[in-house]
Amino acid sequence: KLHNLVQELKGNIRVYCRVRPMTDAEAANGCCISFPAPDEIKINNPELGVTKSWQFNEIYRQNSKQEDLFSGIRDLVVSMLDGYNVCMFAYGQTGSGKTFSMQGSADNPGVYTRTFNELFKVAKERSAWKIELKGACVEIYNEEIRDLLLGPNDKKQKLQVRQGKEGNHVPGLTLQPVNTVAEVEQLLNTAQANRTVASTDMNLHSSRSHLAVQILGTMTNPEGKQFSSAITLVDLAGSERLAKSGVSGDRQKEAIKINQSLSALGDVIAARAQKNAHTPYRNSVLTHFLQDSLGGDSKTLMLLQINPCASHVEESMCSLTFGARVN
Ligand code: ADP
Ligand code: MG
Repeated sequence: KLHNLVQELKGNIRVYCRVRPMTDAEAANGCCISFPAPDEIKINNPELGVTKSWQFNEIYRQNSKQEDLFSGIRDLVVSMLDGYNVCMFAYGQTGSGKTFSMQGSADNPGVYTRTFNELFKVAKERSAWKIELKGACVEIYNEEIRDLLLGPNDKKQKLQVRQGKEGNHVPGLTLQPVNTVAEVEQLLNTAQANRTVASTDMNLHSSRSHLAVQILGTMTNPEGKQFSSAITLVDLAGSERLAKSGVSGDRQKEAIKINQSLSALGDVIAARAQKNAHTPYRNSVLTHFLQDSLGGDSKTLMLLQINPCASHVEESMCSLTFGARVN
């Protein structure tokens, strides 16, 4: 497909956008989004007198299904089995649909479950290969990494990124072998449970931390060649700006760290898109943790989540501008 070829030439960075539907109550207050073309999204802000549009590789509208999004990323995630490192990020303000897209629900699963299932399916089809998959799950909160496959009282839960000869590694990170859909569900449930017990206000906590689900594969092809690669799927902390949330004290410190790590992520992807000689991975724990997955000939997908309500027009503009910068 010509489309795919163009993507390869662009250095393996893609930006998709998904607009979540509005509730009836929200719809009564108006929508600020329209779609002049299949790959174009337009924002109308009558109060500021601003109209602006952006183009992205794929745009999923309000009525899109989880399957639609997954068919757009299927080839990308399966390329992990051919040795590519893949990173996908869901970016957007709190309430824009990041968790819906990535995690989904038991009866309407998102990218996490669908990715594991697809890898199992393809691994089975490649009967002459030996494919071993392991899952890991971490949370990055206040510039600290926690292993979500360990309980909050476990001293080994706090992790650090170390720079080694062969690249970065995270000593002590739990890598759980996974072979079945049931084992994946178990893994995601354990991570969710460990995340929940550690906080008093789960909604607040999850909007202020990055959640990264990692799948590591070791493959032996029919010729006997062994290689390994990883997919990292990240539900990012909410991108809403500090001023608007009107907070102080610890909340303000948290918000500053989130802003720093999201802009560090933007800087890293933009540096790669522009093929800069220096990529500033060390500016945040998030980008340092992801250095190996984001570097080299790895593939990156930024999924911009948009809340289409007129009352959120400014945050939506910020998200689309962020996406345009790394595109
Ligand atoms: P975030 O993780 O960005 O804070 P959520 O994923 O929690 O946002 O979504 C906010 C609300 O919108 C939730 O009630 C969620 O179920 C709903 N929602 C988000 N995306 C969709 C969608 N594509 N279809 C239907 N409901 C959605
Ligand atoms: Mg969320």
